[in-house]
Amino acid sequence: MSTTTPLMRQFLEIKADYQDAILFFRLGDFYEMFMDDAVIAAKILGITLTSRNKGDEDAVPLCGVPYHSSQGYIAKLVAAGHRVAICEQVEDPKTAKGIVKREVVKVVTPGLITDTDTLEPKENNYLLALAATADAFGMACVDITTGAFRVTQVETIAQVESEISSIRPREIVMGEGEGGQRLQRQLTQLLEPLMCNRLPEWIFTEDYAREQICSFYAVANLSSFGCADLPAARQAAAAILYYLQQTQKDQLKHLQPLSTYHVRDSMVLDDATRRNLELTATLQDGKKKGSLLGVLDRTVTAMGGRTLRHWIHYPLLDLDQITKRQSAISELVDNSLLRLDVREALDGVYDLERLNGKISMAGANPRDLVALRDSLARIPAIADYLDSFADPYLKELQSRLDALPDLNALLTRAIADEPPFVVRDGGIIKDHYHEDLDELRVISREGKGWIAAMETRERERTGISSLKIKYNRVFGYFIEVTHRHLERIPDHYQRKQTLVNAERYITAELKDIEAKVLGAEERMAELEYSLFQDIRLHAAAQSERIQRSAEALAIVDVLTALADLSHERRYVCPRMDHSGKIRIDAGRHPVIEGMPLQEAFVPNDVLLDKQENQLLIITGPNMAGKSTFMRQVALITLMAQIGSHVPADEAQIGVVDRIFTRVGASDNLAKGESTFMVEMNETANILRHATPDSLIILDEIGRGTSTYDGVSIAWAVAEYVHDHPDVAAKTLFATHYHELTDLASSCTRVKNFNVAVKEWNDQIIFLRKIVAGSASRSYGIQVGRLAGLPEAVIQRAKSILKDLESGERDHRGNHCSKKIRENQASFQLSLFEQDLHQQLRERLEGIDISHLTPLAALNLLAEMKKLIE
Ligand code: ADP
Ligand code: MG
Repeated sequence: MSTTTPLMRQFLEIKADYQDAILFFRLGDFYEMFMDDAVIAAKILGITLTSRNKGDEDAVPLCGVPYHSSQGYIAKLVAAGHRVAICEQVEDPKTAKGIVKREVVKVVTPGLITDTDTLEPKENNYLLALAATADAFGMACVDITTGAFRVTQVETIAQVESEISSIRPREIVMGEGEGGQRLQRQLTQLLEPLMCNRLPEWIFTEDYAREQICSFYAVANLSSFGCADLPAARQAAAAILYYLQQTQKDQLKHLQPLSTYHVRDSMVLDDATRRNLELTATLQDGKKKGSLLGVLDRTVTAMGGRTLRHWIHYPLLDLDQITKRQSAISELVDNSLLRLDVREALDGVYDLERLNGKISMAGANPRDLVALRDSLARIPAIADYLDSFADPYLKELQSRLDALPDLNALLTRAIADEPPFVVRDGGIIKDHYHEDLDELRVISREGKGWIAAMETRERERTGISSLKIKYNRVFGYFIEVTHRHLERIPDHYQRKQTLVNAERYITAELKDIEAKVLGAEERMAELEYSLFQDIRLHAAAQSERIQRSAEALAIVDVLTALADLSHERRYVCPRMDHSGKIRIDAGRHPVIEGMPLQEAFVPNDVLLDKQENQLLIITGPNMAGKSTFMRQVALITLMAQIGSHVPADEAQIGVVDRIFTRVGASDNLAKGESTFMVEMNETANILRHATPDSLIILDEIGRGTSTYDGVSIAWAVAEYVHDHPDVAAKTLFATHYHELTDLASSCTRVKNFNVAVKEWNDQIIFLRKIVAGSASRSYGIQVGRLAGLPEAVIQRAKSILKDLESGERDHRGNHCSKKIRENQASFQLSLFEQDLHQQLRERLEGIDISHLTPLAALNLLAEMKKLIE
């Protein structure tokens, strides 16, 4: 195994085209890796690195993994950030002249994983292409496991960021020219954790894009795709197709027609808002549990799960579309029994989209066809149940369901009920499906009978009762006799092998039978394989129908899931309009109300409008519930716009175009920015993009800097939002700067609210109720006590507060009065006294006088005296 053998020459030739990938080189039942690939892979996979020519100058490092368990190894390498090129033998080794022909059949990368077992079922795995023209950005994303293919075009880099944060791609494709470099510079942080591929610049041209898309879909023009006047979107789409063809070869038949969407058709959510509102993952640990999606997701299919996630990232703006979903959900809420029936039937539906992808990409095994069959079998019942509803949307969805009875019948007739996972070993096809197969099966069964009969016959003829006919892969069938009976072996037995205590023989008759049996079995396996492939291709040809049905099922799943939640949590259907108003009676936080709290969740009302209640300043002690209240308003608004019912007694939601949040203390230290800088960035973004139809949540902005800077910034921001006619968004502004409550007297649309607390014995009790007016005090010290600060610190803080409130300032205007410093000395003294007192007390309490010797008593006295000194 040196670099000069024909095999290594073949390897090097292929490797030259896949420099950036680890090449899995198929050799019989193994994938071998050579040279640098082997060194890298052995380390990541924890497998042994060997070399065939150890010590030689041209020794080649080498490692390998078995073909049948390769998926896990591939997944591990991809997860470690590598691309893996799969190189197969593309001709039959038996008939090949010279070295077997090999070719790379696909490249696996993070965005192009087809082994769905390693993917999250309820999440898409997206590959994203970015293109930049002079005045626009194009974005195209593909999930090859489902065939989803969406493109859009936007004007600003902020919109690109927002899309990336909702798409959450695993891999990026960009041009290597000026446009790509610009994107790379502007998106450094977002792109950093992702695998980025730079494609040649000629791909990002008008002509190539048009040509590529038209030829891929075999159409004459782009009119049917809705991107005819979106050049950047087209370029991104073409780039992604180019990359897919490079990596997937021709396994792309299930790719759906590209669907163009416009960001202006849905509510705009920037990355910070998605994160702060914990839409699909919590801030703390990035998990789905504890997020809005975690509460809403009662879907029973993977497709439904992915669709719901999409809905949450793209809330609607169009009233008709919103009410369409709402009324379907309402009817599902009202018909609990039918809803349960639908959900039960859906529960047995597998991931049709990904099954469809596997079937089209040749990755399907017999069990996948069974899963397809069982899923299709569920559809008629679902359609039946839906038929009982009057709602037009449910009716429409019902009409889009296609149970593919033709395909289902074929699968039922052809595929065994519990076939094996592997394609090559037979046992896949049912009896009576194919005449030739049935015949071969008879021969094989009878052949085994013949062998059993021959065994009995030979025993009788030779008188050796322990004579056996056995089978192994090397010799085929043979007769085995122990050494004791050697003298009884007939002459026509041909010896094949001698073991420790037995001899193995063959006879002409045995070989005759063997040829028939084994021939039949071999042909059977071949025939089953080719029948399986025919059926698979037949199913793949129905790809579009399967996809259409899957899409309808996904929506039915989401609607019933939302209805289920609405029913259980007693949500209401919000009234939607363009009033510019948000009025919520007894609203609850969808996530927190379901958490195990020590107290019952306290509902709250809110009224925001464009006339008198545009900006609500919310004060109240820490931990009182300000953040919870504001997020609750944002989440209810968002839920309403995805068409869901909401946790409240009653709600009227004027559709909002964007939700912005700036929620305190979301540290971006990992990204190397200071909290304050991030805070100001996000605030700037809000002031630039908010409109009178937006909803803004500002939570303690200005906290990241000194008090005076903080108050000033918070004040100026609030004024700007109130006064600037282009901004003038509905705003909830929580602050611990009480100064801000003065705004209400000068700004007509500003109102003060606070979270009520009850004072009791220098303690506070949180009432969690939002009431009109500003909080009288901030109760910071009481909260500190609740949190367990030492009593000494509490007392000292109180004394400082008293001094501060008397208003003394030093020459720099700081609230650090001479008096505080004077008091400090006496306070420290008192602290010391307290401490000493405590120590003496503990010491004395520990003494048992009845057992104290006079000497010990003296020692103790001495010790205590020392303490005082
Ligand atoms: P703040 O922002 O005023 O510091 P939070 O909104 O973070 O306070 O609330 C602190 C905690 O109080 C929450 O984690 C929650 O457990 C509880 N809480 C908040 N609002 C309510 C409510 N309406 N009913 C019950 N508990 C609440
Ligand atoms: Mg807070």
